[in-house]
Amino acid sequence: MATRVYLGLGTNQGDKANNLTRAIDALSLALGRCTDVSAFIETAPWGFESENSFLNCAAAFETELSPLGLLDATERIERELGRTQKSAGGIYHDRIIDIDILLYGNLVVESPRLTIPHPLMHKRTFVLEPLAEIAPVTKHPAIGKSIRELLEELRENEPNITKG
Ligand code: AMP
Repeated sequence: MATRVYLGLGTNQGDKANNLTRAIDALSLALGRCTDVSAFIETAPWGFESENSFLNCAAAFETELSPLGLLDATERIERELGRTQKSAGGIYHDRIIDIDILLYGNLVVESPRLTIPHPLMHKRTFVLEPLAEIAPVTKHPAIGKSIRELLEELRENEPNITKG
């Protein structure tokens, strides 16, 4: 049976809209049907200094892949699109494409290679904003709140961010 998964995509190098589109095409081939893609939003770099802003989006797929099979597929596609460096130990770099697994159905996974829901998703406006566009009432299975509620909470705690 297929599972609905939500991915977060980001890029801050090259032709950013083209990078996102190519990643979504490659993901559709590897994962299964793409059911939704959010608008592409421009955001400031998070966690590191760079003059290159990001373009971010969220996308939903129906997939038969296991959680680790999904991670293998997203990492392969990152490499195929030209990503060379992974972030490690909280060190972030400019990147052609970053694909994060945000939600895998209602599953909660804690393993050395994979944490689902993505451990930082509820703290990042650039993740929650596009995700709220395509999955506003979907619940975070560990926190128990909807994506829209998590985004509203984050905006309340960060009053400088545009309330859209
Ligand atoms: P990245 O942020 O793409 O550089 O990923 C760094 C590492 O995070 C990867 O090697 C993954 O094994 C790990 N990781 C853990 N949980 C996740 C997740 N939910 N989505 C993507 N990568 C993850």
